[in-house]
Amino acid sequence: MDHQNQPASSGIVIIGSGLAGYTVIRELRKLDKTIPITLVTKEPGYFYSKPMLSTALASNKSAEQLVSTNAEGMATQLEMTILSEAAVTAIDTVAQTITTSRGSISYGKLVLGLGADQIRLPLQGNAANEVITVNDLEEYAQFRKSIEGKKRIAILGAGLIGCEFANDLVLGSYEVDVIDLAPQALGRLLPEAAVQALQTKLSEAGVRWHFTTTVQSIDRNGDALTITLANGTIITSDVFLSAVGLKPRLDLAKAAGIATATGITVNRQLETSASNVYAIGDCAEVDGLVLPYVMPIMQAARALAPNLLGQVTTLTYPAMPVMVKTPALPTIVSPPAKGALGEWKINPIEGGLEARFESSDGKLLGFALLGAATAQRAVLTKELPPILP
Ligand SMILES: Cc1cc2nc3c(=O)[nH]c(=O)nc-3n(C[C@H](O)[C@H](O)[C@H](O)COP(=O)(O)OP(=O)(O)OC[C@H]3O[C@@H](n4cnc5c(N)ncnc54)[C@H](O)[C@@H]3O)c2cc1C
Repeated sequence: MDHQNQPASSGIVIIGSGLAGYTVIRELRKLDKTIPITLVTKEPGYFYSKPMLSTALASNKSAEQLVSTNAEGMATQLEMTILSEAAVTAIDTVAQTITTSRGSISYGKLVLGLGADQIRLPLQGNAANEVITVNDLEEYAQFRKSIEGKKRIAILGAGLIGCEFANDLVLGSYEVDVIDLAPQALGRLLPEAAVQALQTKLSEAGVRWHFTTTVQSIDRNGDALTITLANGTIITSDVFLSAVGLKPRLDLAKAAGIATATGITVNRQLETSASNVYAIGDCAEVDGLVLPYVMPIMQAARALAPNLLGQVTTLTYPAMPVMVKTPALPTIVSPPAKGALGEWKINPIEGGLEARFESSDGKLLGFALLGAATAQRAVLTKELPPILP
């Protein structure tokens, strides 16, 4: 369906109706009410908050209830054209056109807000094709259907998203097994003491952990799944959810000859290697950083919008703590930069824990705040150095 306020033109074309695409458009409209904007998306074009996918079960929110505005509403609100359910299959950076499953469009400036795919590990067994991932609203709807009337869920991956789903599912009275190759949950984000505190609270809430091992095979046995782990443990479950991380969507950019590394490479004006093509959000890599979170998107959109209008603006990233949405023990983390020199100092407090990563001269370079200590978020964030000054 087209939700059209003006004809598609060679103005600004944005691919992707995720937070990145929509936030750029909101920022553009603050600066320019009339420039033609066309949003092209594989999805129906609705706006929803992706972070709610891993917390919506306990509050019994259906996929439809997570949609805050439909495509028509967004097109009206932001005075733009939406070409929805249109997959972009090619970009011609010389002719400045994109090919979609619903025809070609020319662009003056093009923004790639393509997001990231869940990584899928190759798994053995006759039920390997029953592995579920939840990375968009449609997948959430399928996930809700597959767990209906079921009791047991196995989750592969004890990272941020795996832990959030585990907490949400135990709150929804499911039995949850979490499997990870690492020796602990959230290993790369939190210091040991903080991880132990969070794991203990999640265990008390009912989560069963299987660390330092992986899944060898998944087989269907009647109504149940038999999950065989590399360490010999056998888990019987009803549904298998994989949450082992994300990889930026690069195929379109690569096929168009646009430079990529881990993400689509952009400079601090969010420009890719092709002229008039920009990238933002989970698909983009700025100065070597791929930060697949909401706050970096907000910052980047504020820099990208003026650049698209010809006002050269450089992206800066302040410190941007991330909330781990685990009600069993709410956690906020701002990990130190890769290679930062210093050590974690752990300070248990009543009902929580404060962990500070400090340099040898006492400068705060990162933190993890758990439970009652999360109240310190604003104060400590001010002390942190910016990620991109
Ligand atoms: C379960 C979960 C919980 C999260 N919780 C948090 C949190 O608490 N805090 C936080 O900061 N971050 C969180 N995140 C991360 C955050 O949600 C993402 O960083 C953000 O939503 C990414 O937005 P995006 O627009 O870059 O990508 P996406 O939302 O993935 O959007 C990409 C868009 O591009 C479209 N697209 C892709 N390829 C094509 C194509 N070829 N043709 C047409 N359209 C295309 C897609 O259909 C989609 O509309 C969470 C993520 C998940 C999955």
